[in-house]
Amino acid sequence: MSQSKPPPDSTTAVHAGTPGARPHHTLTTAIAQTATYTFETTAVLERYMRGEDPDPDREEYGRYGNPTVRELEERVAALEGADDGVAFASGMGAITTALLALVKAGDHVVLFNDCYRRTRQLVRTVLTRFGIEHDVVPAGDLAALEAALKPSTRLVVSESPTNPFLYCVDLKKLSEIVKRHGRVKTLVDSTMATPVNCRPLDFGVDVVIHSATKYLSGHNDVLGGVAVGAPHLVSLLRDLRGVLGTVLDPHAAFLILRGLKTLGLRVGRQNESALAVARALEKHPGIERVYYPLLESHPSYAVARSQMSGGGGVVSFVVRGGREAASRVVDASRLGAIAPSFGGCETLIEQPAIMSYFELSDAELATLGISPALVRLAVGVEETTALVSDLLQALDKR
Ligand code: PLP
Repeated sequence: MSQSKPPPDSTTAVHAGTPGARPHHTLTTAIAQTATYTFETTAVLERYMRGEDPDPDREEYGRYGNPTVRELEERVAALEGADDGVAFASGMGAITTALLALVKAGDHVVLFNDCYRRTRQLVRTVLTRFGIEHDVVPAGDLAALEAALKPSTRLVVSESPTNPFLYCVDLKKLSEIVKRHGRVKTLVDSTMATPVNCRPLDFGVDVVIHSATKYLSGHNDVLGGVAVGAPHLVSLLRDLRGVLGTVLDPHAAFLILRGLKTLGLRVGRQNESALAVARALEKHPGIERVYYPLLESHPSYAVARSQMSGGGGVVSFVVRGGREAASRVVDASRLGAIAPSFGGCETLIEQPAIMSYFELSDAELATLGISPALVRLAVGVEETTALVSDLLQALDKR
């Protein structure tokens, strides 16, 4: 593990990054709500264009940079132990920009089959149109990953933990394999883990992506995305962001910065609650199977123990009695709102078969290993005991 950067803590979450816009000596970051920036004279402009402006934070146009957004980028980079970061309008904005920045026609990408479905869709249906080939390998299967690497492979895309089954990829082994193959880079979507529970760069990963919509902002009220890594890679993404326009709005950046201040507190509570819920579910006769990485029964338990300090706030489980029984449990939950997403203060509950995978038949669901009776619970920051008892009363109605 890299010893160069201190582990993230709540002090980092509150203070890291060069303070951005602070007019009138405000304590909190001001929202630099501007589309463009001014230059005092043409001489100042020319000096800026030559890269000689004495103010390193001066910006030219809103699509290229913003001080409120910059403070967020630096703070997330500090939390992940990265040297630089770049923020986007959404998690998918970050993923799309990163993939387009890091691969070109003729290149080959490998990704795991339990990746976020829109990431898979991007690789399968969009990148192929631009001559970028790919292979999909089973989540966490590093032997299959190594076998899939070709001379033209340039990128391995992974998540850890994955969604909805919370498989964890051994990031150290993944990085070692990939580094043996020269010019291949690793990109890990660490949205589910958060830097509180795992920092993939410490294990040799090249680029880390977050949907800041989830835990980083933490309040289910804003969309955003962030990518962090070495400055030469981050600058490729930043340059392409300026072309694609996948830029984060400064007001959204302010909300994410505000949410970040309580990241450690929220995720600590969510780790605790999700583990308590998972343990209670595992003992319940109405449950066929529970997926939570810090349950001994989870296939990724050993990997999760070795690289994560908490299991995160999502628990998936299969209800005995099939699709209708699972729907009755979802409907009977009083604390869980039926909604996609996770990572906010409010508990959310959903049945993937009738939400994210609605268009698929039961046979197609089976090929993805998704039971119609699968329920995904994303715990919020409510009291742990209240969450456990809410679920137990919901299970009585199945
Ligand atoms: N990555 C993961 C793991 C996700 O779950 C999601 C959204 O659910 C995304 C990326 C995309 O993020 P966004 O919705 O902010 O575009």
